[in-house]
Amino acid sequence: MSANTFEHWKEKAALLSIEGRAFINGAYCDSVSGSTFDCVSPIDGKVLAQIAECSGDDVEIAVANARTVFEAGTWSELPPVERKKILINFARLIEANAEELALLETLDMGKPISESLSVDVAGAARCIAWNGEAIDKVYDEVAPTGSNELGLVTREPLGVIAAIVPWNFPLLMACWKLGPALATGNSVVLKPSEKSPLTAIRIAELAVEAGIPAGVLNVVPGFGKPAGEPLAAHMDVDGLVFTGSTGVGKHLMGIAGTTNMKRAYMECGGKSPNIVFPDAPNLDEAAQSAAEAIFYNQGEVCTAASRLLVHEDIKDKFLQKVIDAGRKMQPGHPLDPDTTMGAIVDDVQMERVLSYVVKGSEQGAQLVLGGERVLQETGGYYVQPTIFDGVNMDMAIGSEEIFGPVLSCITFKTEEEALAIANNTEFGLAAAVWTSDITRAHKMARKLRAGSVWVNYYDGGDMTAPFGGFKQSGNGRDKSIHALEKYTELKATWINLNP
Ligand code: NAD
Repeated sequence: MSANTFEHWKEKAALLSIEGRAFINGAYCDSVSGSTFDCVSPIDGKVLAQIAECSGDDVEIAVANARTVFEAGTWSELPPVERKKILINFARLIEANAEELALLETLDMGKPISESLSVDVAGAARCIAWNGEAIDKVYDEVAPTGSNELGLVTREPLGVIAAIVPWNFPLLMACWKLGPALATGNSVVLKPSEKSPLTAIRIAELAVEAGIPAGVLNVVPGFGKPAGEPLAAHMDVDGLVFTGSTGVGKHLMGIAGTTNMKRAYMECGGKSPNIVFPDAPNLDEAAQSAAEAIFYNQGEVCTAASRLLVHEDIKDKFLQKVIDAGRKMQPGHPLDPDTTMGAIVDDVQMERVLSYVVKGSEQGAQLVLGGERVLQETGGYYVQPTIFDGVNMDMAIGSEEIFGPVLSCITFKTEEEALAIANNTEFGLAAAVWTSDITRAHKMARKLRAGSVWVNYYDGGDMTAPFGGFKQSGNGRDKSIHALEKYTELKATWINLNP
């Protein structure tokens, strides 16, 4: 890579040519209606590109192509080892185009360029390669029958998958769906968020360049109701996989149930507790981690540790350390490699975040850091790292997902009280416990109702473990071998050996 400097990224951004059309049957195309919408950069509020505004007609064409190629078997019936080679090629092409993809991601949704490169693009390539590498190592089963019959338990691809994804990790969330969906032989119609469609549009071309047949991966950019809903409702879609808000996820499960009972898997919101006991191995590290766990990616993370539960004996001292760490994470220009906090994805989300700051104060919590919009002169959407003390679960900032850089500090007295507060939520995506007591760590981990639990760190993990939620944080799991289950049907084939 050439010099990783602010100047380098600004020069590269100025030279970038951005594709905004849909990608159907292996080629870019305008929407059927010819409509487009503005893609606005949250860095400065300027229009980056025109994006094809897809709707039901485009969805029809994309699903028909996905079905045709699925039935033709050019991908779905390819030996797993061949799909593996092509997916590894795809991952290599993502890596080879890492700078361009990182730049598109940062310009489109405002996250720091260093993170786009090291987390989003690197993680996307890793996810595609991991699934490719896995797929020729997954065996089917033979049932334990008597000697007069043979029971085969095999997995088959579902068929056509609709994938609807959010804007906070646009490329990575798309790849968490694409990796297992493509590895298992499905065709996919991907609808990226209208707030961040650029990387999805670009990688569709890379997929074809890697050798994935035309029609296997189609991208229909557009808004939720006009583009996402016809896709979710389509009678020829076999599986609907979604990452986004709990409200939309519930709505889409309803649509799946009232149309063709397509398989429906939702990865939704969170309000994750980060629980700190006085015997945490290192309170300085725990405080630094608590700040990063909420302010990373501007707080726009489904697993953001938005509820900090601190034991009353250390609360004042510990919270001061978190405030000190948070104060150092002020937003900066996302193309500056030294920036650790970027811009909020758009003005709508920024206003939503700021409205929670107002509600927090109105409902009696104490604002102890931030709370303001900053860098207004840039035309972009930046919010300070913000911390409230004295929060309880009856307050909106204690119970609702804000999806921004706002931390709510809640005090507890006992282990039981910490657990009760932690589990007192409709969500169940993630949780963390900081303690040196191994018994307490295991007891807490067992009783926390969350899909991921971390002990003495936050947000650990990689492709090897399943990721997803309990309760209204979703169903099904992304990542790991378990994700393959969502994209396949189990078939039992019985053969009579005494005909
Ligand atoms: P969102 O629900 O508003 O939108 C997600 C996607 O759904 C977008 O592509 C959007 O266009 C589409 N959509 C919206 N309404 C639709 C409708 N009626 N029919 C079909 N599609 C529709 O969510 P968002 O604001 O993009 O993302 C933030 C949310 O995503 C947060 O709640 C966050 O916690 C969640 N998230 C969860 C995970 C996870 O793995 N659990 C990961 C990342 C983000």
